[in-house]
Amino acid sequence: MSYLSGYTMTQHAWNNGYAIGAFSAHNAETIRAILLAAEQEQAPVMIQVGQKVISVMGLEPMKAMIDAFMHDISVPVCIHLDHSRSFAQTMQAVQAGFQSVMFDGSHLPFDENVRITRAVADVAHALNIGVEGEIGKIGGTEDDISVDEKDALITSSDEALKFAELTTVDYLAVSIGTAHGLYKQTPKLALARLQEIREIVRKPIVLHGGSGVPDDQICKAIALGVAKINVDTELRQAFTQGVAEVLNNDPTEFVLAVSLGHGRDVMKKKVAEKIRLFGSQGKAALF
Ligand SMILES: [Zn+2]
Repeated sequence: MSYLSGYTMTQHAWNNGYAIGAFSAHNAETIRAILLAAEQEQAPVMIQVGQKVISVMGLEPMKAMIDAFMHDISVPVCIHLDHSRSFAQTMQAVQAGFQSVMFDGSHLPFDENVRITRAVADVAHALNIGVEGEIGKIGGTEDDISVDEKDALITSSDEALKFAELTTVDYLAVSIGTAHGLYKQTPKLALARLQEIREIVRKPIVLHGGSGVPDDQICKAIALGVAKINVDTELRQAFTQGVAEVLNNDPTEFVLAVSLGHGRDVMKKKVAEKIRLFGSQGKAALF
């Protein structure tokens, strides 16, 4: 197995009551951490390429680097473009060979969000590439996108349905009380609204801001139709802690393979933990 369309992957998860872990990669070691954890757990997995890493490393180099690490990976992998705010960039990802793209027009007027997301979906679907759209603002700070937490409105089921139908997206990011980044207090997901959206929209739901959401709420959200969960902050913390451990033990340890390698190992453990929580462990064999 190698690359698989995000559509196929999320449909399988949605139909079988588990969620795909969508983990953000930032460099070679974090790509490796995600792939090795997925292989160890025999889980289908998404690697997310986001706006920050694109600004530093570039979109095509990240794709090429993931390609280079696929040689000993047997589980299904999907490369996903996270939170794109430009039609041109989504097309760049399509051309580069991504298997899933997200256009985030949640900051735009509804009609404009629909128009561009639909244009992305028309191209992507012709090439069997999965498409994610977002309706309703998700709080917190991610990449260069900042939304006032008070402004983070819970998505209504009516607007979710209208958006899903008009755009033809394969999976839908909605605002149900999560935020990007670190939570100041424990989040409480709007599970009743999620259930309402699931019953009306009938498409896999994407949970953004998965870091720091209590495990029991994650499990309930999966039972209510969440089939893709984005995790970034907790992984960056794990990687950084791993690197810091090495340097705290020996401030003169300048062999980057040692410090970055330990960062990779610590992050790999965290990815594996999330895979087990999301129920995707062992599911690779079903594809
Ligand atoms: Zn997000």
